[in-house]
Amino acid sequence: MASDDPPETVGKEGDRPPLLYRWHLRGAVVRSSASLIMWLCCLAAYLLDFIRFQNFISDTLAVAYLILMNPPALWVLKRIKNRKAADRFGVFINFLEIVGYTAVIYSFGGIEASFLLPIYAALITYVGIMGPQILPFVNAGLCSLAFGVMLTLEYLGVLPPMKINPNYHISWTEQLAILAVTTVLLFIVAFIASYTARLLKRNRDKLYRQNRELELTAIKARESDRLKSEFLANVSHEFRTPLNAIIGFSELLRDECLGTLNDRQREAVSDISSSGTHLLSLVNDLLDLSKVEVGKMELHLSEIRLKSFLEQSLSAFGQRIRESGLKVSADLADCPEVIRADERKLTQVLYNLLSNAVKFTPAGGGIGLSARSYARKEGRWVTKNGEIADLPIGPGGEGMDHAGLVEVCVSDTGIGLKGEDLKRIFNPFEQVDGSLSRRYQGTGLGLSLSKRFVELHHGQIWAESGGENHGSAFHFVIPL
Ligand code: ADP
Repeated sequence: MASDDPPETVGKEGDRPPLLYRWHLRGAVVRSSASLIMWLCCLAAYLLDFIRFQNFISDTLAVAYLILMNPPALWVLKRIKNRKAADRFGVFINFLEIVGYTAVIYSFGGIEASFLLPIYAALITYVGIMGPQILPFVNAGLCSLAFGVMLTLEYLGVLPPMKINPNYHISWTEQLAILAVTTVLLFIVAFIASYTARLLKRNRDKLYRQNRELELTAIKARESDRLKSEFLANVSHEFRTPLNAIIGFSELLRDECLGTLNDRQREAVSDISSSGTHLLSLVNDLLDLSKVEVGKMELHLSEIRLKSFLEQSLSAFGQRIRESGLKVSADLADCPEVIRADERKLTQVLYNLLSNAVKFTPAGGGIGLSARSYARKEGRWVTKNGEIADLPIGPGGEGMDHAGLVEVCVSDTGIGLKGEDLKRIFNPFEQVDGSLSRRYQGTGLGLSLSKRFVELHHGQIWAESGGENHGSAFHFVIPL
């Protein structure tokens, strides 16, 4: 099982020795690079005559120590498997580091080089942020101790007093005062580092937990989405067989193949047949939708003569259009000759758009069908005549990196749509009037299915409307 701890927390249990090793390895790289830079500064100071030769030599030795101590220390640390021993050895590495820094301070001029004390502060801050909370205080103590030992050894004559300016003298009492102030300052730094680190860790842990929760929720959502689609696909499939039987037998009854019916019986059987057909189309839509969602829907591309295809689709609605008293206009002059698409799916998209246009347009209104092709020119879509197209998709848009596309538009002068509904009607089961008492029959699946079919062709679909009762236009584009 995955641990609930943030992965890079040196202060936590678990995979600690390898983590500690990585942490010290990173520290060694930073330390070695900083030491080299320090040595270059020292070289420059020596060449410019700011420091004496003996200062330069002892700084070189201190820097060499700071770099060379890393490989053996890391070698040992890598081999320590025990968590406590690794922790202790980590502190020991810090101690070796502090000895090196103290040697650098000593080589630059001992107490006169107190301006280099921030390198202690840097170490304390670094371990404060990366390591356990107690470590900055341990290191502040070790730094003060090392600085004190350096002064004591100088005082006892074990180390020769290292000076920048041999004529400048600081009394031992003053040196003691400097040591006291330094110690207090280092502990203040340790406190700030530890406190900041605690805040940082708390926030990091919180963020990590929230991310984990989000990840788990996303996984659960994906899984339930998959289960839902699978369930829908299975149920829809199981529905179709008995439904086909209901429709088939009700048609046999209606056509009086199984005996004569009186008027009331014929009406009832007709209702069974039309309701069965409606239910079957709903089940088919659901099955298609779930197939698209689980990625099982494939395109069967073929060459389609677009103009005659559109004319045939329109004429399939001829009777309904006449019955509804609607006027029809078609603008297919700029329609491309042939396109490659999945004929069945394109038929379904057109059927959905046309049947909506007929359904949502009151008698006396009109519906229109148009198609035109566009070519890509200098980052824009242009018509055959070179006019710039007013499409809400750029040529660089997703899936729109083709040389040309065809736009089909089904418009009507019907009940129109409010601005806020233009997008949501493409979601499954979304209907502007979703109430049980609504005027218009429908499932709310047609547009969402059309959207998915168009997107399977790497195209896009959108709706426009002048507002309620000002008609609407549904456009879709697919790459040529
Ligand atoms: P259905 O038509 O079966 O309800 P659709 O997905 O085809 O489902 O359409 C969703 C909704 O979008 C419709 O219920 C209707 O509110 C709105 N709609 C679709 N086409 C039009 C149109 N031409 N004019 C006005 N509203 C429309």
